Amino acid sequence: MRAPLIAGNWKMNGSKRDARALLGGVAAGAASLQGAEVAVCPPFPYLALGEAELADSVVCLGAQDVSTESAGAYTGEVAAAMLAEFGCRYVICGHSERRDYHAESDTLIARKLQAVIANGMRPILCVGETLEQRERGETEAVIGAQLDGVLGVVGIETFADLELAYEPVWAIGTGKTATPAQAQQVHAFVRAKLGVSDRRIAQGVRILYGGSMKPGNAAELLAQPDIDGGLIGGASLDVDDFLAICRAA
Ligand code: 13P
Repeated sequence: MRAPLIAGNWKMNGSKRDARALLGGVAAGAASLQGAEVAVCPPFPYLALGEAELADSVVCLGAQDVSTESAGAYTGEVAAAMLAEFGCRYVICGHSERRDYHAESDTLIARKLQAVIANGMRPILCVGETLEQRERGETEAVIGAQLDGVLGVVGIETFADLELAYEPVWAIGTGKTATPAQAQQVHAFVRAKLGVSDRRIAQGVRILYGGSMKPGNAAELLAQPDIDGGLIGGASLDVDDFLAICRAA
């Protein structure tokens, strides 16, 4: 019922040459995949390359961020309509690196969701706790507040038009992965929380796991009932690793 989605978040990595090779490799490998939907999210300058390289492939293109604004004097920003023009289907919103290094608030992230959806694309909304928060037993409170912060602006109906990603900050790029049980517990919490507002939407929303997902741990994470895919950082930069994760879904 919820088809798995494996999305690669390349972050700020690679060169134009690397991007072309990675796009070509993923496009070729994904052709024989069954089941999982596959997406890659290159840095902004490589989106045009992505559009061209993925034109005849099943792989979707995504972006890593977006402006809340539609046009105007916003130096350095990229509008959702521009991303749509380059064939993007997904846009990552509220990644912990954006929340942390760019002080993105839940309200700002909610406005990004609106901009993405208004332009016919689907946001991938990221939530997750830090190590300190987990150790203090605040995981559910933190993620609940992140969801409430967004819900206060956009309402539950918006969750029919997006994907969620649970990304424990302590597992991102650290090689530490949440155990399948730890991840499942949070995914189930998120679904139950949304279910209080709308059961049907909560059952339908895809919740991806992100945080050091690799070929070696993907299958057991993806086997959990509420884990509907992966948002892959480091391992998405290697064609073979990324495709191995896609095959595990
Ligand atoms: P890693 O897979 O490198 O831990 O990154 C996860 C992530 O942040 C994906 O958005």
